[in-house]
Amino acid sequence: MLKDQDRIFTNLYGMHDRTLKGAKARGHWDGTDKLIKSGRDWVVEQAKASGLRGRGGAGFPTGLKWSFMPKESDGRPAYLVINADESEPGTCKDREIMRHDPHTLIEGALLASFAMGAHASYIYIRGEFIREREALQAAIDECYDAGLLGKNAAKSGWDFDLYLVHGAGAYICGEETALLESLEGKKGMPRMKPPFPAGAGLYGCPTTVNNVESIAVVPTILRRGPEWFSSFGRPNNAGTKLFGISGHVNNPCVVEESMSIPLRELLERHCGGVRGGWDNLKAVIPGGSSVPLLPRDVADEAIMDFDWLREQRSGLGTAAVIVMDQSTDVIKAIWRLSKFYKHESCGQCTPCREGTGWMMRVMDRLVTGEAEVEEIDMLLDVTKQVEGHTICALGDAAAWPIQGLIRHFRNEIEDRIKHKRTGRVSAVAAE
Ligand code: NAD
Ligand code: SF4
Repeated sequence: MLKDQDRIFTNLYGMHDRTLKGAKARGHWDGTDKLIKSGRDWVVEQAKASGLRGRGGAGFPTGLKWSFMPKESDGRPAYLVINADESEPGTCKDREIMRHDPHTLIEGALLASFAMGAHASYIYIRGEFIREREALQAAIDECYDAGLLGKNAAKSGWDFDLYLVHGAGAYICGEETALLESLEGKKGMPRMKPPFPAGAGLYGCPTTVNNVESIAVVPTILRRGPEWFSSFGRPNNAGTKLFGISGHVNNPCVVEESMSIPLRELLERHCGGVRGGWDNLKAVIPGGSSVPLLPRDVADEAIMDFDWLREQRSGLGTAAVIVMDQSTDVIKAIWRLSKFYKHESCGQCTPCREGTGWMMRVMDRLVTGEAEVEEIDMLLDVTKQVEGHTICALGDAAAWPIQGLIRHFRNEIEDRIKHKRTGRVSAVAAE
């Protein structure tokens, strides 16, 4: 279990003073100028050595991503864009950072921008996050007043401006290249990659897009050292991590824990366990709606990190743990996700635009038991035609939950169809 003194987001745990004074009392903004004076390469090397992997869901190594930015300016400005468009169903961890610990994010933005040669950074915040926007803007204003942002930020010799921009509620704008399009004032539609943003990002300039949590942990990593951070978790899965737990637990919460904590320990230590006890567990989505669910027998052994969950053909994703007890209609739960992805598809590529509609319509029939048994394999086939054939990850995200459902709960789907035939079960009402 993570000890209190090893928590980065201490303000989530009681002090609730998010002002600059409160942040300084917790050790933030302490010697920021000295960290910067250690040099760009030093900051990038510390990030690499810490083993930090992107906290937005994909787990790409953060220090490595930073190292893709040009070392020397070719005349184009460089940018850091912070993705605060947190919209993945079940996910609410970045929201907590912005509400309670905005200064960790702002100080991290300065340090990471310096490491990448960026004099400006944009935080793109989800449109619905109104209170978080207010908290963050108030903290940014405090920093400008205190000389921590702007010319010679924090007396470091580095000029740095930070802008807060809000989205308008489109899930797809959380995809990094759609986010860049939206920042440029265009419709939020993903771009083809490559080029990756480090080559051509915001306004065609070198850009790194990082998640809120990835940036907010940077000041503490630099202060306490990469060895401290990498001492948590398993190799290749380092650090402390925010987990957001919802669904059928006694106390849903967002908690900072060690990476690689066993799922059962996470739920029993912080959430009062599964409603009705562990034996009442039916399934878990371990990392937000884009990753496949796991049945109870896999959940028994689950280790909450990137590699273990990937081996189970699921993923850590956003570490949003959605717990489902025996009362859950898992077919309907995944049907609801299909409806979500169909609605959020931007429609620019055919497999996603058409495939999400197809998948949702078959799911409509599975949920009521009105499908033919053969349609289960046909649905699986459609998911395979979408997976890996689209411009952005939304296509995969729409396919994977259905694949997980069929992999682990095929019997339940077949039973529903058979029982519907014999009239033993009335149709589950679709919303
Ligand atoms: P991705 O694997 O395509 O990219 C991850 C990051 O690594 C990106 O910044 C990308 O530019 C960079 N990258 C990858 N390969 C690279 C290369 N060869 N060279 C240079 N840079 C490279 O994944 P993605 O589409 O950015 O993210 C998908 C994930 O997002 C999903 O796993 C899901 O969990 C998560 N997600 C999160 C939210 C949320 O609200 N936080 C919402 C939807 C999805
Ligand atoms: Fe748009 Fe879907 Fe294609 Fe992504 S996969 S670009 S959301 S149509």
